[in-house]
Amino acid sequence: MKEIENYKPSIVEKEVLKFWEENDIFRKSVEKRKGRRRFVFLEGPPTANGTPHPGHVLTRIMKDVVLRYYTMKGFYVPRRAGWDTHGLPVEIEVEKKLGLKTKQDIEKYGIEKFNRECRKSTFRYENEWIEMTRRVGFWIDMDNPYITLENDYIESVWWSLKQLWEKGHLYKGYKVVPYCPRCGTALSAHEVAQGYKSVTEPSIFVKFKLRDENAYFLAWTTTPWTLLSNVALAVHPDEPYLKIKYRGEILILAEERVARLFKGEEYEILDRFMGKELEGKEYEPLFTYERPEKKAWYVICADFVTMDEGTGIVHIAPAFGEEDYEAGREYDLPVIQLVKRDGTFDEKVEPWKGMFVKDADPLIIKHLEERGLIFAVQDYTHDYPFCWRCDTPLLYYAMESWFIAVSKFRKQLVENNETVEWHPDHIKHGRFGDFISEAKDWALSRNRYWGTPLPIWRCKKCGNEICVGSVEELKRLSKEFPEKYDLHKPFVDNLEVMCPNCNSRMEREPYVIDCWYDSGSAFFAQWHYPFENQKEFEENFPVDFICEALDQTRGWFYSLMAISTLLFNRAPYRRVLTLGLVLDREGQKMSKSKKNYLDPNYIFDREGADAMRWYFLSTNAPWMPIRFYEDAIKETLGKFILTFWNSYRFYKSYSSLDKFDPTRGYIPIDRRREIDRWIISRLQKLIMEVTENVENFNIHKATRAIEEFVIEDLSNWYIRRSRKRLWVEEESEDKLSCYSTLYDVFLALSKLSAPFIPFMAEMIYQGIRCKGMEESVHLCDYPEADDSLIDEDIEKAMDVVREIADMGRAIRSRAGVKIRYPLGRAIVDGQSNKKQGGSEDQISPWQSHCGVRGKCGEEDITTDELGEGGDKCKVR
Ligand SMILES: [Zn+2]
Ligand SMILES: [Zn+2]
Repeated sequence: MKEIENYKPSIVEKEVLKFWEENDIFRKSVEKRKGRRRFVFLEGPPTANGTPHPGHVLTRIMKDVVLRYYTMKGFYVPRRAGWDTHGLPVEIEVEKKLGLKTKQDIEKYGIEKFNRECRKSTFRYENEWIEMTRRVGFWIDMDNPYITLENDYIESVWWSLKQLWEKGHLYKGYKVVPYCPRCGTALSAHEVAQGYKSVTEPSIFVKFKLRDENAYFLAWTTTPWTLLSNVALAVHPDEPYLKIKYRGEILILAEERVARLFKGEEYEILDRFMGKELEGKEYEPLFTYERPEKKAWYVICADFVTMDEGTGIVHIAPAFGEEDYEAGREYDLPVIQLVKRDGTFDEKVEPWKGMFVKDADPLIIKHLEERGLIFAVQDYTHDYPFCWRCDTPLLYYAMESWFIAVSKFRKQLVENNETVEWHPDHIKHGRFGDFISEAKDWALSRNRYWGTPLPIWRCKKCGNEICVGSVEELKRLSKEFPEKYDLHKPFVDNLEVMCPNCNSRMEREPYVIDCWYDSGSAFFAQWHYPFENQKEFEENFPVDFICEALDQTRGWFYSLMAISTLLFNRAPYRRVLTLGLVLDREGQKMSKSKKNYLDPNYIFDREGADAMRWYFLSTNAPWMPIRFYEDAIKETLGKFILTFWNSYRFYKSYSSLDKFDPTRGYIPIDRRREIDRWIISRLQKLIMEVTENVENFNIHKATRAIEEFVIEDLSNWYIRRSRKRLWVEEESEDKLSCYSTLYDVFLALSKLSAPFIPFMAEMIYQGIRCKGMEESVHLCDYPEADDSLIDEDIEKAMDVVREIADMGRAIRSRAGVKIRYPLGRAIVDGQSNKKQGGSEDQISPWQSHCGVRGKCGEEDITTDELGEGGDKCKVR
């Protein structure tokens, strides 16, 4: 490799990249350990339909550090890239590009053409991703990735769904689901969790007139548009309610709420009764756009009614609320659905038909006001869920959906989670543990186009349902099955699948599945298991290590755990490293829309990948948020990267001048001077510290230890103290000792730092590599500490010397004497302090000399730190 003197990051790093690629170093580093113990990694697949941002870079850096480390530790660490290719984000991009606004538009355009565009769009930024991955030095096999849209992958996913189907864990329900009217699809609980925003909306107190009495139930709602679908009012059975007279009107509401709502007002209490006494009382409907066959518009009892807000009377619309729907099932209430899937009122709602329901709220309020049915209107601030993809307010909507019965497996989920090692530890029983212990059934189906088709076919004639678990099975059931096929829509829907019972044509349930199920299947589907590679699957399950951003606790970490628990009843991973968010300079979350982040390429070109890596690795614990801006990386470059480089260049240039050859002039450690043995001893401890910290994913502690060693021990102390040993002309044993020591240190440091700053480590290694050594630092084994080289006595003694030097420096600075000014004499008295019981470590020479710190005019202590002329000084 070309020798480079001045460190220009992009030149050095490009030189190294060229070397790796020309010599196939990544592949060799993996192959070399074949047959050794595996360290199994699973890549959380990114989507390549957007450009990579700094958060992606951080994830890739962290993964790379751990994988390089375990490789050098002798593990067999194959790494395969993956691409997440399905789902709404892809569809949304294509819709924008083609100018399609609704699902009807897509269908008019043609699903086949649409999905072809989606497939293309999926890899729109593939090159940017590959280049970023390459440039940051993340070693992963990009040539042979798993891709969730491939037939084989889909077939494995189908196989898994059939397993669930056969055990009865896959069912069709009519639950109320959070639903995005724009995307036209239900969202899973973990998707909803990502999109809450605080909003202020009008809430209204509405009067419902009793059928047989001139009195009103007072109810409260924040969603006036749902009143059109009201079928009941719910009270708490065991709470007291009051009938009061207020300004000439007779109102019924909970006693506890009366006290709060009518505080300071005059009212008369007419009656008091428990909620259950109201059960069955009928009232006049507010709206009658639909008159249901089932009995409606009466009071029901429900335990979920609280006294915390509102009136203690809850308006029930089973079409639009989870609890409403459950209560409706209990009382056999009708479901009045007046809202279409696009979120607008249907034809029956004459005044507001075609209007988005939330937009109709003010008009509905006005209408009720005119009819004298509004008691009060109040602004109400609460957290409301928005679609995390398109920012449309979600509606709670009773719709048909396929579910995975995850809630039945809460206990197993919790048990399996116990086997996982989380970093940081609190995720285990906190963020993740809480989430799985309350796991809801997984709304799997999506009423969309670009995704893994739900492999369930239904016979209209006899009602028979089949879940297809393989391509073979589909072939068997289909009248014709072409040679070339694509398991997406519309291909699967165009097949003539015949009912085995009655031989009439079956229709597929028209859905695709949640793309989180795709990525959560990666641990088996990447192998096309169980159709192929059973052995590979078994060898790679469970996975040893995964690493993604913290927000994946409700995303990929969860979907993996849920699927693995249901299919194999064990955790799919052993160790998880969760990463903090990358923030901008001001500490704001980086967002695509704000574009408040730097293009990683800009940093690669200027400060380099190593500086960026080191900054991310050493600044904070991996799971803490980190700010990303150029000045911070520049500082890292100056402080650590350049210090390391210049120290190396110092050794390199002197040893080249002197033609030092470690294979010839190497002096054994035990024959070297104290200072040489000191830094070798320090080096052993550094190796121990780094190893222990990386093993525990305390990457920040490992990198900081290296940084301190390089800056303080090596550059500021050892090299400065030893420079003059190299200035002598003739070859002496002392000079060779110094070279041998620097050689040992840089060889070890290049290996030790290789997982973190793979480029510079390689450059240094190549600069000092001797014949017969590994071709690349990344093919070397990770350094092991040698206990026999640790010398506590020398280290302690050196601590004293360094402390004295520090004190000397302090005295000089106080006395205004420059460091370079020669020092004639220094006296250090380490005895009197020791007699007083102080240890050598705490020696305070100035105190023992004249008793007052800094008072003594004489310069008492030094090493040659205090001046270039300090050779004659002796520390006594
Ligand atoms: Zn949406
Ligand atoms: Zn049939």
